[in-house]
Amino acid sequence: MPVHESEAIILQGYPLGEGDRLVSFLSRTMGRVRGVASGARKTKSRFGSTLERLSHVRIWFFERPSRELVRINQCELIESFLDAFRDYASGVALAVFSEVTEAVLPDHEASDANFRLLLLSAQAVKKSGRPELPLAYFTLWTVKLGGWLPALDACAKCGRALVASDAAYFSRRASALVCAACRVPGLRVISAAALVVARKMLAERLDRINAEMIAPKVARELSDVMLDVIEHQIDRKLQARELLESPA
Ligand SMILES: [Zn+2]
Repeated sequence: MPVHESEAIILQGYPLGEGDRLVSFLSRTMGRVRGVASGARKTKSRFGSTLERLSHVRIWFFERPSRELVRINQCELIESFLDAFRDYASGVALAVFSEVTEAVLPDHEASDANFRLLLLSAQAVKKSGRPELPLAYFTLWTVKLGGWLPALDACAKCGRALVASDAAYFSRRASALVCAACRVPGLRVISAAALVVARKMLAERLDRINAEMIAPKVARELSDVMLDVIEHQIDRKLQARELLESPA
């Protein structure tokens, strides 16, 4: 049984049996992995708080022949997000991050881009205590990395360029964006302001975007459109999304 050592982010954990924990984590080198941490729910567990949601850790685990679940051997904390979870709005955004990552990524397929996106977004929430901008950035880039984001600079039907003052209409079924002249009933409008923010986010790193320049309501509008796309792709509702409150 080869032992693997990897940098990872804990996605979800569930009680298992008497004192064990079933843990889903995103390994930087192996992608999404599910495993069992024996005795993790006992009071003097060697795992301590390392297996809490979104903990950034170094993890050691064994793959077991013909078993889907790996055995988690050891875990060391690099960065904890427990404090950020104590704030309601931050905690909900972080819960959306972990649920979405868990839902959209396939098993055992490494994606360094998704790993960095999750870590950068969680750190931005923790640092600022203002989750709107990181939530928009995270959902937009998750859709982009999933290959579900249409071109944002031209109408998919007539080809007309969309300028900064144009609102557009989004079809999540077709993953297409059309102009006002080409819209049909049932499409979702995206405001010109939200499109400007989306283009900026595709061109800049999250930590280089000035949060003061983006209204929370515009960031939320973008998040809502992207969460619709994600729910359409995974074919179910996200539980944590229902806990999101409207931004002030
Ligand atoms: Zn058009």
